Amino acid sequence: MIRQYELVERVKAYDPKADEKALDRAYVFAMRAHGSQKRANGDPYFSHPLEVAGILTGIRLDTATIVTALLHDTVEGTDATLDQIRELFGDEVARLVDGVTKLTRIELQSDKTRQAENFRKLLLAMSEDIRVLLVKLADRLHNMRTLRYVAEPERRHRIAVETMDIYVPLAERIGMQALKDELEDLAFAELNPEARASLLARLEFLRENGEHAVPMITRQIEETLAEVGIAARAVGREKRPYSIWRKMERKNVDFEQLSDIVAFRVIVASVADCYAALGTVHAAYSMVPGRFKDYISTPKPNGYRSIHTTVIGPENHRIEIQIRTEEMNEFAEYGVAAHWHYKVPDGAFNPRDGRQYRWIRELLEILDHAPDAEEFLENTKLEMFQDQVFCFTPKGDLITLPSGATPVDFAYAVHSEVGDTCVRAKVNGRMTPLRTRLQNGDQVEIFGAKGQTPSPTWERFVVTGKARSSIRRFVRQQRRDQYMGLGREIVQKAFRQAGKPFSEDAVAGARGRLGYKAAGDLYAAVGEGLVTGRQVAEAAFPAEKLKKPRLPVRRRRPAGGKAGDHAVPIRGLIPGMAVHFAGCCHPLPGERIVGIVTTGKGVTIHTIDCETLESFHDTPERWVDVAWDIDPENPLPQVGRLHVVMTHERGTLGNVSTVIARNNGNISNLKITNRSADFFEMLVDIEVSDIKHLTNIVAALRAMASVSSVERART
Ligand code: MN
Repeated sequence: MIRQYELVERVKAYDPKADEKALDRAYVFAMRAHGSQKRANGDPYFSHPLEVAGILTGIRLDTATIVTALLHDTVEGTDATLDQIRELFGDEVARLVDGVTKLTRIELQSDKTRQAENFRKLLLAMSEDIRVLLVKLADRLHNMRTLRYVAEPERRHRIAVETMDIYVPLAERIGMQALKDELEDLAFAELNPEARASLLARLEFLRENGEHAVPMITRQIEETLAEVGIAARAVGREKRPYSIWRKMERKNVDFEQLSDIVAFRVIVASVADCYAALGTVHAAYSMVPGRFKDYISTPKPNGYRSIHTTVIGPENHRIEIQIRTEEMNEFAEYGVAAHWHYKVPDGAFNPRDGRQYRWIRELLEILDHAPDAEEFLENTKLEMFQDQVFCFTPKGDLITLPSGATPVDFAYAVHSEVGDTCVRAKVNGRMTPLRTRLQNGDQVEIFGAKGQTPSPTWERFVVTGKARSSIRRFVRQQRRDQYMGLGREIVQKAFRQAGKPFSEDAVAGARGRLGYKAAGDLYAAVGEGLVTGRQVAEAAFPAEKLKKPRLPVRRRRPAGGKAGDHAVPIRGLIPGMAVHFAGCCHPLPGERIVGIVTTGKGVTIHTIDCETLESFHDTPERWVDVAWDIDPENPLPQVGRLHVVMTHERGTLGNVSTVIARNNGNISNLKITNRSADFFEMLVDIEVSDIKHLTNIVAALRAMASVSSVERART
């Protein structure tokens, strides 16, 4: 355990003006408050807030944050009160502790929307003071470091999933790279121990076999730069197993290449030196096309700056190089926390105003309009993972979007109203369809028309949460208007059948008794079928006996029909329509899809990027807007097809099917398409629950030494 004087010394080492007395008081206060409480591993509970404070000294945070870390569990877990804390430590610390405590309270609830609720609260808290998030991240990091002591496997799993889904992307978004890496690795160890072990083993093997490559390469880079008078420090850092794993999920990488496992960093004195070093590196080694990125001229949304390039370096090693200044390096490691290390002019950085981060503002805007926490989470969580494209307004303002974004996403990013009323777009001066994917550097001009409303079909191609939630909000409003009109008709009819005159006053009485806020809400509920017209009539005249309505003749379901509509996991179809899944693209739940109608045959479902769709461009009337409708409790497996190339050795095929089975995939068909002395190729059909499930299996296969490539089979 860290001693009291050690903690104070650590803080004073980077902040000589730190409030030593406050640190001492907080140490003693927390130690007394937690008393004899114990952690799951038997350690005194106080060791936890102390470790959290220790983590935060590692990123050199201010006294108030360290004090908050020491106190962060006292209000929730002990007899201490917020008033006591305010009295002893002042308003600032009390506010921070309150922010962290509120989050802990939600964490302890365990209903279904808990995680999403938690995320909302977290965003709200950090929009007020980003330090709340820093303490929360450090708290989570220590809990993850000690996760193995938690006895219940389900709870361990839940905590690891939450870490991966929420805390890792947040850490990334505020640029806390080191913290993010460790959280991710700890969660990966819990969620997929086998994959992590196999990657570690391969890394170990490569390290043993190429041990001189990294020092040799860094020395050569330094010498090459020294020859032209650039003083530089080069370092090679091995990537984390999880980042290799993610890369294997996304694209077919050849694990043997050095560029995939070691990132080389070149640290120079100034921005001018960064570009000079880049020129020198490109002159000395040939550059791999398509890998160059300049995050100095267009920094990432989290403030990250660096130049990235990949070259065929010394001794033909393909290597990835990141060129940056010392200060950029500091920001890359510590993100927002680096603001405390570099004295910024007053007003340039204010931890109490998280709203200065554009992405927090945007998330909060979505939050204000999302009907429920789960939808909010779905809209925002995914987005945080995506790569970025940088586009410009005609005035030259930079708009950062996730890759795959369209002019509609761009319009919504500029302003909700621009999105809602958008009708046409020009990209780089040319009229372009709204579904076009934007590229880095595109200049986008949006044309709107007054009174124009979003098209529901946009939801098929937009990728940003902001656009999607706005379109959904509009569709919901439209549907509600329809339900209201329908509901009102049903109620009028029910009144007629009951022999009562219809009046808004009578409905107002029923509304109160049935617990609806406005008549419109009640009508919408009736239209949607949640309340019957008869129930409204009965509630309107509670003391009276109403005429019995004549029962309509029930139509029976046609015998021998399909097993029922829920057997079709697709929304947006006319009931009874036959559904096929296209053999060309094998769509899976989680992928964006579209239906193509064939007379007499029903609807065929394709993925939105399927090449076959080109042949239907001239017949837009055959396109139907569809979406997956999967019961999460009871998903229907769909077939995904993989093309696998593996070495021709004894046992390979067996190992491949074991890996698929271990990842809960069910092989439904297998066809060997090519066989040579060294390799054989095959097509494997696997039943999976969704696209995520399939990409998991793909990554697991790519991690195998005997598998040389795995791709989704598309014809
Ligand atoms: Mn804690």
